[in-house]
Amino acid sequence: GDVVLEVTDLTVAFPTEEGLVKAVSNLNYKARLGRTLAIVGESGSGKSVSSMAVLGLHNPKRTQITGSIKLDGLELVGAPATTFQKVRSTKAAMVFQDPQSSLHPFHKVGKQIAEAYRAHHRVSKQVALKRAVEMLDLVGIPNPQRRANQYPHEFSGGMRQRAMIALGLVNDPKLLIADEPTTALDVTVQAQILDLVNDLQKEFGSAVILITHDLAVVAETADDILVMYAGRGVEKGDAKEVLAAPSHPYTHGLLQSLPSTSEDLEELRAIKGSPPSLLNLPSGCSFHPRCDFKSQVEGDACWTQLPEWRPTPGLLNREIRCHLADPVATLNNDEGAR
Ligand code: SF4
Ligand code: MG
Repeated sequence: GDVVLEVTDLTVAFPTEEGLVKAVSNLNYKARLGRTLAIVGESGSGKSVSSMAVLGLHNPKRTQITGSIKLDGLELVGAPATTFQKVRSTKAAMVFQDPQSSLHPFHKVGKQIAEAYRAHHRVSKQVALKRAVEMLDLVGIPNPQRRANQYPHEFSGGMRQRAMIALGLVNDPKLLIADEPTTALDVTVQAQILDLVNDLQKEFGSAVILITHDLAVVAETADDILVMYAGRGVEKGDAKEVLAAPSHPYTHGLLQSLPSTSEDLEELRAIKGSPPSLLNLPSGCSFHPRCDFKSQVEGDACWTQLPEWRPTPGLLNREIRCHLADPVATLNNDEGAR
């Protein structure tokens, strides 16, 4: 599909009393129409921060942003507030964990969606309300006519999530960003919301960015994946292929730490150590303090040089940032030799 969002060399930093917090460093990715890109990482990996910057949800006075964010032809780095208003109302919609953050508690749900539509279409209130009811129907809300007349607190958590998606999609945005959209919901409702996002994507042909730490969600929903660590991308490729056969040591560790059966739950093999402080990133490869593969790299490159993106040999569309060409294959060869 066509590229609708192109993020190039994006760095997002927050000055604090203790120093500069580098939430995102030199990030690159593309989101394409008709495809779902999962951005995956632990909390503090920077996965949400880049999309906040896309929507202009950061505080411009307290955020330093460099690089480029091109959304549907518009450059957003350094853009004025009016540009972001346009972006949020017509070009990109965001679905959060907490639907309260975009639905107004004191206005009827149908009216909110209708008003959002009327802000960009010269139509009567009646026509806009009809559109709102259609949207509620589209996102699977039963009795949409009656529901349109209710307030958000009269909806269940899952229904509110659906209503927020309806609000986000009413102006046909090319990009839908879903940031941990399901973590607050129970498992059944989670699955329904993810199915809905998938269906809507097929219907609208928009690009979807799914931000999550939950790899099961990625496996079910995403086409492409970007794995982030300490504000940087470390691996990208086809989502299912990356999950089946990770290449970067961090992705490998992340998947190893997942229980594959219920018995495994008791011995979760978490990656040793913890993510670095964004105030003081490790030199060279940020993952080096936790990496078991660094002994295989000659010299001190892991400590002194930031690895560039490189294709993994033999894997289609796979790129990693590591000084080893194919780290996990190296590991498997080692085990075979023993
Ligand atoms: Fe590990 Fe070195 Fe690769 Fe970083 S560059 S992931 S420290 S082997
Ligand atoms: Mg987050």
